[in-house]
Amino acid sequence: MPQDIPLTCSCGKLRGVLLVADPDTGTHAECYCSSCRAAEVFVGQPDPAPDPVGIFQTSADALRIDGGHDHLSVFSFGETNLLRWYASCCGTPMFNTMRNPKMGFVGIRTTCLADTEALGPVLGTGFITADDGKQTHRGLRLIVWRMFKRIARSRLTGSWAKSPLFDKATRKPVKPVKVVTAAERRALIKAF
Ligand SMILES: [Zn+2]
Ligand SMILES: [Zn+2]
Repeated sequence: MPQDIPLTCSCGKLRGVLLVADPDTGTHAECYCSSCRAAEVFVGQPDPAPDPVGIFQTSADALRIDGGHDHLSVFSFGETNLLRWYASCCGTPMFNTMRNPKMGFVGIRTTCLADTEALGPVLGTGFITADDGKQTHRGLRLIVWRMFKRIARSRLTGSWAKSPLFDKATRKPVKPVKVVTAAERRALIKAF
């Protein structure tokens, strides 16, 4: 049964709901990539390595924000990269979106969710470093396929316009995007 799951930053000021979550309305994934790691450090969290970060990838209209708009902030590693949304009150990473709102996509950090059982098991893992140092992915095709299916549906139905993270009229992010330079990003984490 799909269920609504409350979500908050760690101090509780920024809060909302992940609507009708179940293993079919999104993809439960994990990522070990250096950008996800650096994003945690940038907002004030410890480097999660060697653990991954957990993300539930779902449709933009599955996210509702109920309070703490003042604390909603966003940055990006570069002018064209993923938008990484966080709560500035306590430095909690919250969401990822693409820059084009029409993609209708949002990734929700699973640590913000009151409960992750309804998300189902982790279906895919990105950027696993093998013993020989090479990086591999598990379930990547499935993740990408499910994401594109969802993007197509949200374009078709127009549900992308219901994202609380983009202005409906201007289609711009609801907060100014801080662009973090490559040099700043490199200083955030040590490579393995
Ligand atoms: Zn907070
Ligand atoms: Zn990543």
